[in-house]
Amino acid sequence: MTDIRHTDIAIIGSGPAGLTAALYAARAQQHVLVFEGNQPGGQLTITTEVENYPGFEQGILGPELMDIMRKQAQRFGAESIYEHVVDVTLTSKPFELVTDRKHRYSADALIIATGARAKMLGVPGEAEFMGYGVSACATCDGFFFRNQRVAVIGGGDTAMEEALYLTRFASEVVIIHRREEFRASKIMLARAHENNKIRWMTSTVVDEFLGEIIPNGVKRLTALRLRNVQTQTVWDEPFDGAFVAIGHEPNTSIFQGKLAMDQAGYVITDCKSTRTSVEGVFACGDVQDHIYRQAITAAGSGCMAAIDATRWLESIRHGVRLHA
Ligand code: FAD
Ligand code: NAP
Repeated sequence: MTDIRHTDIAIIGSGPAGLTAALYAARAQQHVLVFEGNQPGGQLTITTEVENYPGFEQGILGPELMDIMRKQAQRFGAESIYEHVVDVTLTSKPFELVTDRKHRYSADALIIATGARAKMLGVPGEAEFMGYGVSACATCDGFFFRNQRVAVIGGGDTAMEEALYLTRFASEVVIIHRREEFRASKIMLARAHENNKIRWMTSTVVDEFLGEIIPNGVKRLTALRLRNVQTQTVWDEPFDGAFVAIGHEPNTSIFQGKLAMDQAGYVITDCKSTRTSVEGVFACGDVQDHIYRQAITAAGSGCMAAIDATRWLESIRHGVRLHA
């Protein structure tokens, strides 16, 4: 263990939420350390074109957008720490953090922006074609599949919602589910059944995502290797896109038992604020939002967290209590 390093505000996470919080907090003259974690820049670094982040008329590549956000925060003094936080102490102030490099830090206020991740199937080709036909977000990528044939993998409400959304663009949406029974709610299932663009493949699993590398080096998904789990028949089914919709998981394991969370493990924030159950700890982005899950909403709540944290710090430094 090394000596402890202190900061006004520690931000755990460097996606749109964390980096926007860093920009606002640093610009408010707070000393800010951003813990970048195992995925510096967050989820957008594993995608290609982002067309719905305002301010970029022609769209922008995900990694490029995150580089810009980081540089903008650094311009005002935010410092990136390329370490993953493995433990936090929230029961005493200042809060303490320990990272994977066994470095220790303390902070007067803490902003949690650790995001969430889409659960993936973990079969061959999935990671390789992510952003090149494979996606986990119809709102983000549906637009790229106009008049094309796409698959949605999953049997819960997320899969129904993604499939229904995709019918706005795709010529055909095939829901691929591993069982005959669906976990989705009756109403969502009924809506999907009523939509004549949706087809169904049940008792079917994806064994592999197949694609090609086009001469200019760009990859493209072309088909899924499917298997019927009852007959064990295997076949290659052509698709232009495939949306994995088997659920999401918030990155909250290090906060288990230390903060109030909902049943799915998302951090609970006070209505219309980013305050958590621990005074001085704020949360923003996908780690506290299982509904919208967009870069712009994450960035927006990052701004809120920085304002909440800065106001709270000022209130305690001046002996004024803003809230209980
Ligand atoms: P994330 O981006 O998930 O970032 C989380 C951060 O926390 C990471 O930096 C990670 O390293 C860090 N972290 C986690 N745990 C720790 C720890 N213990 N210690 C330190 N750091 C930690 N949204 C759009 O608006 N438009 C799109 O086109 C779009 N496309 C997408 C494409 C893909 C493939 C995916 C997966 C998502 C896409 N999204 C898109 C959704 C968008 O990326 C997310 O909503 C957004 O990134 C959430 O931001 P966030 O800052 O909350 O968390
Ligand atoms: P979920 O309910 O857990 O469903 C996940 C689905 O993915 C299940 O059908 C599951 O199959 C399948 N699955 C999981 N792992 C798989 C794997 N490795 N391979 C193949 N299939 C796999 O998750 P969710 O759909 O994300 O919903 C989460 C919660 O959010 C639910 O409470 C849901 O109601 C809610 N939600 C609501 C709405 C809405 O009302 N509009 C929208 C989205 C989400 P099995 O069934 O065989 O396990």
